[in-house]
This record gives sequence, C-alpha cells and structure tokens, in this order.
Amino acid sequence: RNMAQADIALIGLAVMGQNLILNMNDHGFVVCAYNRTVSKVHDFLANEAKGTKVIGAESLEDMVAKLKKPRRILMLVKAGQAVDDFINKLVPLLEAGDIIIDGGNSEYNDTTRRCRSLKEKNLLFVGSGVSGGEDGARYGPSLMPGGNKEAWPHIKDIFQSIAAKVGTGEPCCDWVGDEGAGHFVKMVHNGIEYGDMQLICEAYHLMKDVLGMDHDEMAKAFDDWNKTELDSFLIEITADILKFKAADGTHLLPQIRDAAGQKGTGKWTAISALEYGSPVTLIGEAVFARCLSALKDERMKASKSLAGPQGDKFKGNKTSFLEDIRKALYASKIISYAQGFMLLRQAAGEFGWSLNYGAIALMWRGGCIIRSVFLGKIKEAFDRDGELQNLLLDNFFSNAIKDCQESWRRTVSTGVQQGIPMPCFTTALSFYDGYRHDMLPANLLQAQRDYFGAHTYELLSSPGKYIHTNWTGHG
Ligand code: NAP
Repeated sequence: RNMAQADIALIGLAVMGQNLILNMNDHGFVVCAYNRTVSKVHDFLANEAKGTKVIGAESLEDMVAKLKKPRRILMLVKAGQAVDDFINKLVPLLEAGDIIIDGGNSEYNDTTRRCRSLKEKNLLFVGSGVSGGEDGARYGPSLMPGGNKEAWPHIKDIFQSIAAKVGTGEPCCDWVGDEGAGHFVKMVHNGIEYGDMQLICEAYHLMKDVLGMDHDEMAKAFDDWNKTELDSFLIEITADILKFKAADGTHLLPQIRDAAGQKGTGKWTAISALEYGSPVTLIGEAVFARCLSALKDERMKASKSLAGPQGDKFKGNKTSFLEDIRKALYASKIISYAQGFMLLRQAAGEFGWSLNYGAIALMWRGGCIIRSVFLGKIKEAFDRDGELQNLLLDNFFSNAIKDCQESWRRTVSTGVQQGIPMPCFTTALSFYDGYRHDMLPANLLQAQRDYFGAHTYELLSSPGKYIHTNWTGHG
C-alpha cells in the first residue's frame, strides 16, 4: 500500500492548526497532523480528530513520507524563529517543487526572505495571511496567500474550499501577489481592524457622554446601524456587548478596565505607512489611542487636575445627532479604507507586486473580523475601474462622503466642544480636507526649509526646477 496518502500536512496543533485541519477534513482532504511536541498529535487524533480521516506523524520524516507529491506542508506555528527552525529541518527532507506554506502571523519581510531563500533551493514558499480566529479557521477563514506563484495551482483548490464564502459562493481567498504580499495584506487588514474598532469606540463615547444614552439605547442604535451601510461583524458584536449583563444583572461593559492591549500588527501597519510615506493617519491614531488608554493610572491622576471645556451640555436634537454620529462613522470608515488601499498601492510600487485590489476587498468581505457589506462596495469600485487610484475618486464613495459631510463636521465640532477625544473621526476629516485641497500650506513649509537649510523649492510655474533663495539678503 502506498504510504503517500495525505493531500497536505499541517504542522502546529494549537488553536489555529487544529481548526484548519478539521476544516480541511470537512472538505474531503486527507490531512497529516504534526506538532513539535508529538504527544499533542496523539491527543488530537484521540479527541478532536476522532472519527475523521486525519492521520498523524511521529516525526517530520514520517510526515514527509505520508504526503502525495508535490508535497504540501502548511505551518501554523508561533511567528518568528519557530518558522525558520521548521523550514531548516524540512529543507533536507523535500525535493524540487514541494511547497511550504506559513499560515502564521509572520512579518512580511521575513516571508520575502524565506521565499527567496527557498526559491534558490527549488522549493516553493507561500506566506498566507489567515484571519478569522478560531471560528474562522474551523468554518471558513479569510485567506491571503502570497509568495511563489508556481505553488498556487497546487494549493488553490484546498485554500478556496476551506475559505469563507460570500454572495453566490465566492471564496474569500485568492492569490495576492509575490513574496511577502500575502502577509503584507494581512498586516494592513489588521491595521484596518484597529481603525474600525476605534471608530466604533468613538461613536460609543459620543453616545454615552454627549447624548447620555444608556446601554439599551446604545445597543438599539448599533442594532439599527447594522441594517444600514455599516452592516458588519464589528457593529453586530458591539450591540451584543452593550446588551451583555454580568451574573449580578448589571451591564458588564462599564466594569471593564479601559486600558487597551495590543499584539503589534496595527503598529506594524503604522510603521510601514511611515516607512513608505503613505498618509495612513487613521490607523496610526487608532494605535496611539490604545497607547493613551493604557496610561490608565496617569490619566486617573490627570483627570483630577486638567480641566475640560466649561461650556454648556449638549442641547441639540438627540435623534438627529445620533444620525450625525452614524454618518461621521461611515465617512471616517471610508477614509480609513481609502488610506489602507493607498498603503497597499504604495507597497506594491516599492516591491514590484501587482496586487488585485478588488480581490483583496473580496478576501476581507467574509471570514475575518473586518467583514462587512461595505467591502462588497469596495470590490464593486475596483470592478468598475481596476486602475482606480484612490477609493475617494470613485463616484459611489465620493457621493457617500458628500451625503455624510455635514453630519461628520457637526459630530466633530460638537465632540471637540464637549471635550470628547475622537482621534480617528478628526484625523479622517483632516485627511479628507487635505486630500481635496489643490493648494496646501506646504508652500510655506518649503520656504521655511529653504530659508534655514537651503533645501530648495520649486515654483508652481516651473515644477521640477529646484531653486534656492537667499531669504535674509545677507551672507
Ligand atoms: P501559537 O500559540 O501562536 O503557537 C503554538 C504552536 O507553535 C504550537 O504548535 C507550538 O508547538 C509551536 N511552537 C511554538 N514555538 C515553537 C518553536 N520554537 N519550535 C517549534 N514549534 C513551536 O498558536 P496559534 O494561536 O494557533 O497561532 C498559530 C499562528 O497563527 C501564529 O503565528 C498566530 O499569530 C497566527 N494566528 C493566530 C490567530 C488566532 O486567533 N489565534 C489568528 C490568525 C493567525 P508546541 O506544542 O510544541 O509548543
């Protein structure tokens, strides 16, 4: 009997790995499971995978022998050294054309490095973003594979089978691009997630502290919003969270310590934005908002000595201001995604990747934390114009902003007057106002640079020609 019976191997039997194996098994693939601590293979086969077609391996040699060719090996291990360690152990056991896939949250530069070094050894490397957490992995994640494209025809069927489906069964998985492109797109996805969450938090803050809404009112508002353009997983769970009561019958949310944690993928997105000079301000503010929240003790002290505005409480119409907040959230969200896609475009230029932006929107449309109806609209915009330079230049989105604009400005000005921090609402509006201005005050900035540093400047009338002026007339 031929030993080589497994369609794919999966290394790493923690939460993600186990659930992906069961998902692949559901779709008819024979998976060979392996883990550094081999006892976990036995445990898995005896429990979670009992009664499935999943097989186990006692060693990497055993695992490789059980795989059909070209061999497909998917790793779901801790990002970093563990990935390199497994690659180094696998290389001598594999042959030309075999495929190693890293489904962890690896840094995209690591993926590019691994892809290049394995290519020299005639092995195909894929770095795939996997999103959707435990549930996604089990029943349909968003998958963002990139790397050596020769691998794609060999893994496409498995990947698209197990991925989340939207609309008429379209999989939330497609080839992203070369080298680290898949992990870059996953990183930007996580950054956008930070932005979406912070925007919702700002809306909640305004509802709570400007409108004085109680939990049931706020929950109802989010339930209502979920039937509008904002229809999304994060709005849905926000309504659930607002309704949730602890065992003693009181709402749990206000009892939670307001100090946010983070694992760093939002920060990576902001760092990339700075590195490539892409004005992704909203994700940056979302990361900083978490940092500021984490200074809980310091803020407690500051709250005793730093005064806020002394003006009147909000006296406007509650219903109409609530709708203003909704529109501010929607407009800000459009800006955030426009910025995210600007970063993708910038990176594509830097690395020579050709990214399919519509496909990326579709990959995020289902399966992951940022899944939303809105992403379908982004897909449609790129379907209308594959060369679309910026989402804000698409008619659907420019009209949406036009419709929200007055509400957005009222929300921001009211919030500012009431002393509510809204870093993402405000940066989104400032970005919008900057992006739509044909003339910014950077003329003065250029003059200042030339004044003190002889950095030169161009005249509007002769772009490309750099000149210097002796501003002080002496020296
Ligand atoms: P994890 O806790 O990140 O990693 C545990 C797995 O990595 C175990 O199989 C462990 O083997 C192995 N491992 C750790 N250090 C190792 C080393 N030095 N050498 C060899 N193996 C090592 O597991 P996870 O939460 O399932 O996540 C897996 C990957 O998916 C990570 O990159 C994670 O960031 C990413 N991810 C996670 C989620 C999520 O919701 N959890 C979502 C998307 C992506 P032992 O059993 O032998 O310790």
